[in-house]
Amino acid sequence: MSLAEYEGQTALVTGAGSGIGKGAALTLARGGAYVGLLGRTEDELEETLAEIRAAGGEGMVLLADVSQEDEMAKAIDRLISERKALNIVVANAGINGTWAPIDDLKPDEFDKTIAVNLRGTYLTLHHTVRHMKKSGGSIIVISSINGTRTFTSPGATAYSATKAAQFAMVQQLALELGQHGIRINAICPGAIGTEIDDNTSMRKKAQTEVPVEFPEGDIPLTGGEAGTVEDVAEVIAFLASKASRHVTGTPIWVDGGQSLLR
Ligand code: NAD
Repeated sequence: MSLAEYEGQTALVTGAGSGIGKGAALTLARGGAYVGLLGRTEDELEETLAEIRAAGGEGMVLLADVSQEDEMAKAIDRLISERKALNIVVANAGINGTWAPIDDLKPDEFDKTIAVNLRGTYLTLHHTVRHMKKSGGSIIVISSINGTRTFTSPGATAYSATKAAQFAMVQQLALELGQHGIRINAICPGAIGTEIDDNTSMRKKAQTEVPVEFPEGDIPLTGGEAGTVEDVAEVIAFLASKASRHVTGTPIWVDGGQSLLR
């Protein structure tokens, strides 16, 4: 991929203030894309924009909660009024939410995880796809090993359900959107060093844990070390680029082999 791979293109990244979303935004901007940085945390998004500008790139901050229809409609309208087109969408914003036994997981806790991870992905696509239909483009949905290959994370029922549903949406929409020249793929990260643990509430782990002894280090490729934001961002960059022009409806596990083990 050349440095100017995305020159003249516009990207939208949700949850761009930290972790994988920030890494994706910086990488796409380095490749020449103008990046709409969407999220709820203004100071973090401004910091991402400052880093993009310091590296010679450009973008704009779009404040919105991905689960709120009106906020999403307004934020995406702002990006389109500024740029007139949209080529790349990274549906990344998400939370771990509450991990607890099913008989202890409260309806409000379940609803919250569904609202941010699944409704948020739906709203992101609902409001962006109509603009991408004009010129085609690439959508990358950040799912997880949980819900696609891994079902041993204690109490992660709501989270896994949203991540499985994202993968189902990707396959369904690959068919629906192919005729418009829009590709859509899923990235399923394993453990990545980000701030996501701050958005995790865990209860009664001992009740849901499956007693399995793993060999030393449960990420074969790294001897147990978590992956980095850049490990994921570079695969996002590939899926956004021409190099992946014949790839759609496909999951890519970015996990050092972790999900094959547990
Ligand atoms: P993170 O907490 O660093 O980043 C998530 C971002 O989403 C934050 O900037 C947060 O402010 C934003 N966000 C959360 N709720 C939002 C809402 N309602 N509206 C708008 N923005 C919101 O975590 P991360 O690890 O970078 O997570 C990004 C994605 O990667 C998530 O979808 C997560 O499920 C997925 N993922 C992460 C890992 C991991 O180990 N870190 C593994 C698999 C999948």
